[in-house]
Amino acid sequence: MGKSDLHTHTKESDGALSADQLIDRAKKKGLKTIAITDHDTINGYKKARSAATEAGIELIPGIEITALWGRREVHILAYLFDTEDPELLSLLKRQRLARIKRMKDIVEVLQGQGLDISLDEVRAESGTGSPGRPHAASVLISKGYVASVAEAFIRYLSSDKLEGVTTDYASVEEVVETVKGAHGVLSLAHPGPLYTADEINTLLGFGIDGIECIHPSHNFNLQRTFTKMAESRHLLITGGSDFHGKRKTEYDPYFGIVTLGDKHLASMKRLAQRRKTEKNS
Ligand code: AMP
Ligand code: FE
Ligand code: FE
Ligand code: ZN
Repeated sequence: MGKSDLHTHTKESDGALSADQLIDRAKKKGLKTIAITDHDTINGYKKARSAATEAGIELIPGIEITALWGRREVHILAYLFDTEDPELLSLLKRQRLARIKRMKDIVEVLQGQGLDISLDEVRAESGTGSPGRPHAASVLISKGYVASVAEAFIRYLSSDKLEGVTTDYASVEEVVETVKGAHGVLSLAHPGPLYTADEINTLLGFGIDGIECIHPSHNFNLQRTFTKMAESRHLLITGGSDFHGKRKTEYDPYFGIVTLGDKHLASMKRLAQRRKTEKNS
């Protein structure tokens, strides 16, 4: 028996810790298994592998992919995929280019509002990792335009405020097909308050294997509702803390506390194993 956290971020996307630092924190929290689910990149996972082995932590392949559903962005978690799958790697390359183009457009929108901000400044925040809105928020904070990431999202970065910005992210259908092709399993990330019941039905209808029932944005009732939904449809139940390693992020106190039980992890592994066997037979 041990605790698993299947939703964490590193510097390779919008987290604050390096891959090694995250493994160290996971060890201190007594976690047995973790997944690094950076946005649209597996570089954090790759960098953490040797530290995880040394620390005796089971690190499973993971990622949080932003997929397009019409004009909406949907976060889909994927696990236990083949990390060298060429189709998956090519999809991730496209996601990265889409993120850079999108950030360029976002910066232009902000400049149009009279803000002094450049793409280079945002890229300096994201370093070699996936650029995202939290990096733009950091620039806005350092320039004194806003006092917090939350304020940056409310005033400038929410999807409502960026309505004109379109993105080239892969579609939900494409993400599902590619991850399954790489023998991985998929889970709808933190559905919490984001979707209506009908919308969840539609999204699951695309072939997503499970629901992230356990997430700090879910209160007890939501967790129960999603767990029942997953059980009644024989879907996977996944979960984690969505740790970003930033003191000011509201979910971070849940690292080591919001965890997933062994039996759910075992079901995920069985499904991934079945995909591997079916593919090779
Ligand atoms: P992006 O990758 O550019 O779509 O940015 C999405 C990320 O921004 C999410 O994964 C969260 O980590 C963060 N985020 C989204 N909304 C907020 C918010 N209201 N306050 C702080 N962080 C947020
Ligand atoms: Fe994030
Ligand atoms: Fe997310
Ligand atoms: Zn996340």
